[in-house]
Amino acid sequence: MRTKSCFVCRKNNITFFGKRNGYDYFKCNDCSTIQLNPLPSEEQLTLLYEKQYSKSGHHDTSPSKSELVKQYLWNDIKLAVTRYLPKGSRVLDYGAGWGGLCKLLNKNNFQCEAVDQSEEMVAYCRDVGIPITLGDLDSFPDQTFDAIVMCTVFEHLINHDEWLKKAHTKIKQNGLLISLQPTAHFASFAGTILKKSGELPDLNGAFSAPWHTGLISCKGMQILSERNRFKIIEIAMGSNTRREGLVGLLLRFIEVVNRIAYPIFKERWPLVICHIFVLRKM
Ligand SMILES: [Zn+2]
Repeated sequence: MRTKSCFVCRKNNITFFGKRNGYDYFKCNDCSTIQLNPLPSEEQLTLLYEKQYSKSGHHDTSPSKSELVKQYLWNDIKLAVTRYLPKGSRVLDYGAGWGGLCKLLNKNNFQCEAVDQSEEMVAYCRDVGIPITLGDLDSFPDQTFDAIVMCTVFEHLINHDEWLKKAHTKIKQNGLLISLQPTAHFASFAGTILKKSGELPDLNGAFSAPWHTGLISCKGMQILSERNRFKIIEIAMGSNTRREGLVGLLLRFIEVVNRIAYPIFKERWPLVICHIFVLRKM
């Protein structure tokens, strides 16, 4: 059912932003978060993930492709973990996919394990010796991890508040949640310019309905964090994914520009595609 309120800031101030794959994205005029409206139910989305996700072209089809596309994002997360946690810390890579980030963290002497819901990806990880669980946060006892990390997963969540509450219980006291995710700023800027008769562009997968339920703004992440007893201790720009051809060149160019502009303008700079959020459990 269509709603009038933003699922992040809960203000009744959202308006139609554009269509994608037959779904409608709305934008919050208060916190700027872009969100599916109506949001499919958990049951509907679970079914869609089972039936359509592998054919949707949205996920990385192989471990090597995943590494090619995301290695710089993984490195950003590795650097963030290294900034805040001592080697040997226990880390969960949530929504680990083919396990590349988990492998990288273990190579850097963290004690990382993975969790994912895809049977195919979990089977692969087990084959190559990446410690992985098929399941969800429920698969782990409370207060297990020094940090939960996620690379381009937060935008897929269905109930962000419920998920954050659960993550809070699985993280040790003063532990961290580190998420690199596409945010609302660039999507809003580029979506406004590039949409044609209300239809949004793919924008390198940012407008992937119904998989991307929300592209949350930095302000939105502040609100969600506070409401769920986390404190944001760092917001940084994330690297762009690596692609081939013209899109790849454009993404590299934007990244170079961002590296110059972001330190000056911070969250006001609209060309950062992904931000990294470091949240501390309060
Ligand atoms: Zn809002």
